[in-house]
Amino acid sequence: MNEERKTPEVRAQMTDIERLRHSASHVLATAILKIWPEAQFAAGPPVENGFYYDVDLPHRISPDDFEKIEAEMKKEIKANHPFERMEVSRDEALELGKKGRLAALSERPEPSKFKIDIIENIPADEKISLYRNGDFIDLCAGPHVMRTGNIGAFRLTNVASAYYKGDGKNPQLQRVYGTAFKTKKELDDYFAMLEEAKKRDHRKLGRELELFVFDDDVGPGLPMFLPRGAVIAEELEKLAKETEFAAGYQRVRTPHIARESLYLKSGHLPYYAESMFPPMTLVGESVKQEDQPQYSPEFQTKLYELFPTSDSADVAASLSREKLDEAWRFLSQLKANVPVDRYYLKAMNCPHHHKLFAAIPRSYRDLPLRLAEYGTDYRYEKSGELFGLMRVRSLQMNDAHLYMTPEQFEAEFNAVNEMYLNYFKLFGIDKYLMRFSTHDPSKLGQRFVDEPELWKKTEEMTRNVLKNSGVNYVEVPNEAAFYGPKIDVQAWSVIGREFSIATNQVDFSQPRNFDLRYKDRDNVDKIPICIHRAPLGTHERFIGFLIEHYAGNFPLWLSPEQVRILTIGDDPKLIDYARSILRELRAHQVRAEIDKSTDNINGKIQRAEQMKVHTMFVIGKRDMDADAVSVRIHGKGNLGAKPRAEAIAEILLSIKERRA
Ligand SMILES: [Zn+2]
Ligand SMILES: [Zn+2]
Repeated sequence: MNEERKTPEVRAQMTDIERLRHSASHVLATAILKIWPEAQFAAGPPVENGFYYDVDLPHRISPDDFEKIEAEMKKEIKANHPFERMEVSRDEALELGKKGRLAALSERPEPSKFKIDIIENIPADEKISLYRNGDFIDLCAGPHVMRTGNIGAFRLTNVASAYYKGDGKNPQLQRVYGTAFKTKKELDDYFAMLEEAKKRDHRKLGRELELFVFDDDVGPGLPMFLPRGAVIAEELEKLAKETEFAAGYQRVRTPHIARESLYLKSGHLPYYAESMFPPMTLVGESVKQEDQPQYSPEFQTKLYELFPTSDSADVAASLSREKLDEAWRFLSQLKANVPVDRYYLKAMNCPHHHKLFAAIPRSYRDLPLRLAEYGTDYRYEKSGELFGLMRVRSLQMNDAHLYMTPEQFEAEFNAVNEMYLNYFKLFGIDKYLMRFSTHDPSKLGQRFVDEPELWKKTEEMTRNVLKNSGVNYVEVPNEAAFYGPKIDVQAWSVIGREFSIATNQVDFSQPRNFDLRYKDRDNVDKIPICIHRAPLGTHERFIGFLIEHYAGNFPLWLSPEQVRILTIGDDPKLIDYARSILRELRAHQVRAEIDKSTDNINGKIQRAEQMKVHTMFVIGKRDMDADAVSVRIHGKGNLGAKPRAEAIAEILLSIKERRA
């Protein structure tokens, strides 16, 4: 990947904190040069959460060097040098570069090679500027803070290798990372947050709490939920089903695969093909006449791909065994006129749901029609991009498609929005942002489906709903989906980690592709508007989010093990008493267990706390005689003895109300 040079426009938009961090990278270079004057610098931009500077240096910088470098940086900040801007001609800049004076403290025997290369790539009409702090002069377009002293607090964080301009053909450089903030407190808070995030990492907690696993034989990106994790998925599903039922949704069930023709119709093929698993080819299946591959343009393209110059023996020799096999199969089918059918694992549920809408004649009286399914989808994410439960290849989505008349849109959209907000409240997600992406009228028919009236209308309606409901939103022009405006929801966990968890899209294109119709009041066939929505996102990502959000300390209703009964000793009568409590809890669908080990009570408590079991009933002889239990809550300690009936009633109520 090529790292693009920032245009002056982009630079002008640098935020205050980016300015500060970029300025810190000049100070970093200054410090490195004080220690290693021969260092050659390439680029030093601000990045998310910090900054870096790429340096070419025979000495391999390691974290052991950070203290020394930071000490020099502190001196430079204390000196409070101004960042002085100087405009120079291209020739002057090149001259300084040849003398090694760019990104340097003085002239040097070696030229500033990367800076010379950068100058040569600056567009002719762009001004060339240098910035000076103390003895350090750098080629830079800015902007910076006024003085080095404005850099409040900083820390070096990491060193990695990086190719010059991100191109593997270029020399490898050392990329020294740091971060900087206006105040020491902000810096400390940031590192405390990172520390906390590490503890809460869903991959780490997922293992420790026995929630989910990955297995090489099953395949990367294909998580399997252990019983304790499956419980969370089931609880979320129960929540969704209850919520959606009350909101007038109907549940449907669809297969995990579908014929190629479905995705050609939906437009996912060929545009989305890269994100889908390759097709399964069934030879000899009967296919619809129009799908006979030997007549389809796709088939022709395939052949051409496999044999760009089919008469050359060299080409065949250069093809992999797999490709040859594939070509052979296609050719023999062509010859024998054997029909071929292709199936894809579904990557989204919309096309199946559209087919269900179309399966029965619909009238305006049937609308809005809301079809919901926790659909299992498969997406081909590149292996390098897989990440715990956050980026996976199999996903179960809290999906639904709502079909409506234009008049019903506002109420439907509003209701969907309400549902999002209620979920946020339930999970204690206080910080969220809805990004409302709209279209650009000048790009109708290219980037956006050519329906100027529908765009205007739905965007206006969407905007009104967002305004009137007082949700936290920003409008992003020109980023709508091809087929309609969309809302992406970003949420922040309690420790400030950001997740994009849900999307809500308005669609007036797919219903047309699928020829969806309803008979309107005036007896005319009309095309419904469709809303795609998934407020709980996918089980995978949402559970990953919740693990980190709660640090594994789930509220009772979500807790994999809600109650564990711990007996003090193993008197048979006591065990019987424990069993009768267990039976009562289970009869009420409470996930309860008895610790059957022979450990002493402290050992039992410790193990339950480790597994973050929500509630412990500790029972000894005295509790048994009083028909009571001693209640202990994970992380909160002992609440004392309570009558058994009262303790159980409280548990049932907390679960029923899904208390935080
Ligand atoms: Zn700069
Ligand atoms: Zn959809």
